[in-house]
Amino acid sequence: MKRLIIFGECMVELRTQHGDTMAKSFAGDTYNTAVYFKRCLPVSSISYLTAIGADFLSDELILTMGEHEINTDLVFRSTERNLGLYMIRNDNQGERTFAYWRAQSAATQTINLMPDDNISADWFYFSGISIAILDNAQRENLFSLIKKLKTQGCKIAFDPNYRTRLWEDEDIAQHWTTRAYQESDLAFPGADDHLMLFRHTCADDIFAYLEDKNITEVVMKNGAIGVHILAQQEQCIVPVEHVSAVVDTTAAGDAFNAGFMAARLSGKPAVESASFGAKVAATVITYPGAIIPSGIFSSHITP
Ligand code: ADP
Repeated sequence: MKRLIIFGECMVELRTQHGDTMAKSFAGDTYNTAVYFKRCLPVSSISYLTAIGADFLSDELILTMGEHEINTDLVFRSTERNLGLYMIRNDNQGERTFAYWRAQSAATQTINLMPDDNISADWFYFSGISIAILDNAQRENLFSLIKKLKTQGCKIAFDPNYRTRLWEDEDIAQHWTTRAYQESDLAFPGADDHLMLFRHTCADDIFAYLEDKNITEVVMKNGAIGVHILAQQEQCIVPVEHVSAVVDTTAAGDAFNAGFMAARLSGKPAVESASFGAKVAATVITYPGAIIPSGIFSSHITP
């Protein structure tokens, strides 16, 4: 059984339904990937590494993670901070506006709260958001943890998921994103992230930049345009099936990564894994919200 650790922040999501009525759920880029990975590959063991508060919403998150069959052995508690929160408002034109309350969230203290125990896994997955929410001392400690995991044979997967407002400035974001790539065996650059952070305008720019980073497999997402894969100096493009009724693209990339990894870690070839990831993402974007109900999700990998 594959053991995966996914590190990051899960927040309370409040979404406008009608008038002032809001629906509450839990979401966050790496958390979304954890949920969809487990759904795609139920035989896997997956632990979410994060910190939560002592508040009642944190307790509810633990219960929800249990329902998703995500292990909570690496969820640590802060006595001083609560879960982060974000709110989405949908206007009549289908435009979405986000507001965040996350600067003081418990997850920003995850590495400080984590005991110096030995943890082990086959794969460790994190994102640019996972790094951005930490202070510099914790970022260094995170990379020490990653190096230690690697010496034990653990593989590293990374998605840059660049969010300007979470970083002190662009240079710092570039520095840590580059360091993360240098440690990665599998990377999921997004075309939009690289355009914003590095001004890369095409797959060739991204692959040229990643060339000396020693990444075994680079899987570049570019919305409906297709997925570019670079492995062993060979490039290929995997087409993405057109989705005519896109409802909400929240978590598309997170779901894609989950599907790709579930297939790849089960021994499927990269191209087949990308097609499966795209299929998972295509389902997720035809429903509202980051986490779609499990009853309408039927993508499983048969190892
Ligand atoms: P991110 O969310 O990381 O920015 P993308 O927007 O590139 O990532 O989307 C991730 C994946 O979701 C794509 O590789 C594709 O498989 C799928 N996807 C996103 N938008 C669409 C769309 N309009 N039609 C079909 N598939 C899509």
